[in-house]
Amino acid sequence: MKLQSSLRQKITLGYLGYYVMALLIVALSLFTFLELRLIDDKVVLGEHITELFDATLEIRRFEKNYFLYRQEADLQESKRYAVKVIDLIESNTADFAKLASAPRISALQNDIRAYLALMDEYAGTGTTDAGQTELLDAQIRKAGKDVVTIAEEMAGTERRRIRASLDRFRSILLSSIVLLSLLMIAIGWALSRMVVRPLKHMDSCVEAVSSGKLDRLSTLSEDREIISITQAFNHMLGELELRQKILLRSEKLASLGTMLAGVAHELNNPLSNTFLSTQILLEEVEESDAARRKELLQQIEEQTERAHNIVCALLDFARDKPAKRKNVLLAPLFDEVILFLRGETASDVRIVAEISADIALPADRQRLEQAFINLIKNALEAMGETGEISISAAKRHLSSDSAVSRLDEGDKSLGKCFHGGDAVDIEIRDNGPGITDEILPRIFDPFFTTKDVGRGMGLGLFIVYEIIEEHSGCISVESEVGRGTVFHIRLPLQSVDKASK
Ligand code: ADP
Repeated sequence: MKLQSSLRQKITLGYLGYYVMALLIVALSLFTFLELRLIDDKVVLGEHITELFDATLEIRRFEKNYFLYRQEADLQESKRYAVKVIDLIESNTADFAKLASAPRISALQNDIRAYLALMDEYAGTGTTDAGQTELLDAQIRKAGKDVVTIAEEMAGTERRRIRASLDRFRSILLSSIVLLSLLMIAIGWALSRMVVRPLKHMDSCVEAVSSGKLDRLSTLSEDREIISITQAFNHMLGELELRQKILLRSEKLASLGTMLAGVAHELNNPLSNTFLSTQILLEEVEESDAARRKELLQQIEEQTERAHNIVCALLDFARDKPAKRKNVLLAPLFDEVILFLRGETASDVRIVAEISADIALPADRQRLEQAFINLIKNALEAMGETGEISISAAKRHLSSDSAVSRLDEGDKSLGKCFHGGDAVDIEIRDNGPGITDEILPRIFDPFFTTKDVGRGMGLGLFIVYEIIEEHSGCISVESEVGRGTVFHIRLPLQSVDKASK
């Protein structure tokens, strides 16, 4: 059975690695301490050897002086150093044994004793027998030379021993440092791969969710904790999506209710007027004159036409809209809209459009025209006899890192807009009476109107909203009573997959 890995295990493993490393560091420190002590011992031994070697050199120096000047003091000094050599050997026998073999040390001892004896003999012979003196002279020189040679050998051995110890110490220290560094890097790397990477991956997935995408999280890791967090998160996303759907459904049902109530109310008026006129006509058909009958029939015709218009507007709104997207140039589209509304524009009303000729967007030309007609018509109706409507459009590039962008703060955004990319921001501004704060939030509702019966149906802005949505755009409104109203519209310049919205 495959054991499931866990973050906890991995972190514990990481800790274990660091403990092992700490142990290795302690061991290395201990080794350094002991090695330094050994080297210290060798240095002390080296000092004794140097003392021994110096003493042998002194023996030879005073011996030479004595042979040259025959001074008793030189003889005594030479002997004193010879005794010192014997003392040094006796007090450091064990240490010196590490530097020279036992026969070599006893040779040194024998040589130095022989030397002393020869010196004494030499001093005792005087200068009478030249032949014997010369023989002794030669023997003393040979013994002295042997002593110096052995001492020199021992000093050399000690120097080599110290150098070898230092070399060994240096290479062990260096390789331990390299090993520890490699171990540290390996543990850090393994921890980051096993622990940090899956967490980072999750972080980026969660960031995408926070910016509006409800895609399920994928997991790179087989760790129990990460898997259960991912599962919990995905479950939460599922719930969120479900609730969103329920909310949307209830919102749809609520607006359907409002709409049906509006339709019923709107149709009820012309129908009851028609019914009333028909009844009067039926009652008065005999006695009334032709003019009266004509008047009643005209009323019936007007009311029937009104009902017909309502039904047409609803049919137009509800018709299945096949996407007839083409690249539409914005400037000529607005020219056409303004021309279309010329008959309804009072002579003191100015409509100014400042739109660069190169702005084009994928759109259903007729639908988009309908939206702008509704907006400008409302402004014309609100302003009455005088005023100015200014229309402007500017291209914008929206950063794609925020998956869902909104209209700028302060624009009273109506909701989510489209994904990042190139867009056009259109502004339709009038200096009419403006809209009060009480009715501003309701102007996009179906059948909401402040106009007189027969003048407005309250479907204009509702249809505008739908058309802008169809084009993956968004619309918001700003208004100040007495100063005018601005509608902000943002539309993407490239086709946007509606499913991704
Ligand atoms: P209708 O035009 O049939 O009333 P709309 O949905 O087009 O329906 O408009 C709803 C309401 O919004 C209007 O009755 C009006 O009160 C208000 N409105 C829309 N545009 C403007 C505007 N530019 N200035 C003032 N009020 C406006």
